[in-house]
Amino acid sequence: MLALAAYPLGLSALFLDRSADAPGAQIAPILLGDLEDPARLAELAARSDVLTFDWENISGAALAPLAKLVAIRPSAAALQVSQDRLLEKALFARLKIPVAAHAAVDDLDGLRRAVQRLGAPGVLKTRRMGYDGKGQFVLQQGADIDAAWAQLGAPGLIYEKFQPFSRELSIIGARDQKGRFVSYPLSSNTHSGGLLRFSVAPYRNARLESLAKRHLRRVMEHLSYVGVLTIEFFVVGGRLVANEMAPRVHNTGHWTIEGAVTSQFENHVRAICNLPLGSTRALGATAMINFLGTLPDRSSLLGIEGLAFHDYGKEPRPGRKLGHCTILRSSAADRNRALAEALKLIRWT
Ligand code: AMP
Repeated sequence: MLALAAYPLGLSALFLDRSADAPGAQIAPILLGDLEDPARLAELAARSDVLTFDWENISGAALAPLAKLVAIRPSAAALQVSQDRLLEKALFARLKIPVAAHAAVDDLDGLRRAVQRLGAPGVLKTRRMGYDGKGQFVLQQGADIDAAWAQLGAPGLIYEKFQPFSRELSIIGARDQKGRFVSYPLSSNTHSGGLLRFSVAPYRNARLESLAKRHLRRVMEHLSYVGVLTIEFFVVGGRLVANEMAPRVHNTGHWTIEGAVTSQFENHVRAICNLPLGSTRALGATAMINFLGTLPDRSSLLGIEGLAFHDYGKEPRPGRKLGHCTILRSSAADRNRALAEALKLIRWT
């Protein structure tokens, strides 16, 4: 999706991926190799003007030698913070952005102490490499401590208090090299089993949007960030509690391809290539639904007015994101009707 946004601007893309049938290979040349392979990364850097990511777990050590060869945007420092849930929460707290009460956990005794201090329910998570609900265990009560440890037990965990949220929201923004900043309207996101099922945007709440925007801008300015950044929030008692950030284009911003004047992908490309940022204005009311595990019937879905279908060309596997669709309508009520209709045609496996 980044490459599809880059081509009309006269830019070309080159990917590094472990697999020759990675989605990007359908539209751009691909270097095959491990994402931390020094020789492959050096080749990628030598053949590129700017390096960016749609996956944030590449170590600073792998990137350090490249910084002399090529511009890396966003910076390795921004990646580093978002690779570790504890560093992320520390940064939010430092910037006065509320986070869930939490504690670092490195052994079973530490988990016992954390549950005693913070109480249950809570979520035990791996600090690093966790995404889409992987590496998480919800402790309903103290009696679940042993089961949680049996599943995740290893150093490098975080225990955080369960947030009784009324809604999950995300905000996506872009910042360029001159410090100009734009942000998209809020997206309201429905997860299940740790996986994003669908989003609706814009979620209209002027107070929460201006608060989220301020939080996002503060993080981006603090990191001298260049590119697109996402922050996910829980809404708890009308307040925003930051859950995590992603230093990249985000699943909850896929609606912007059809639903905003300039998509998150294009704005990321513009920001990292030193081009003016585009308008983030929403064109209507949208819903984005993920295709998980199984691709739905294309013909039935395309019968819904204003629906755009995105097949990533991936092998089906349970829980795998294989594509998505976006519905664009002129009113929220109309959008909600079409969303309900589309959900009946989609099976998550
Ligand atoms: P994460 O990988 O942190 O984004 O978590 C995936 C999903 O699990 C979130 O979007 C929430 O739906 C749920 N979740 C994670 N942490 C918490 C928490 N502290 N309280 C309640 N729900 C959570």
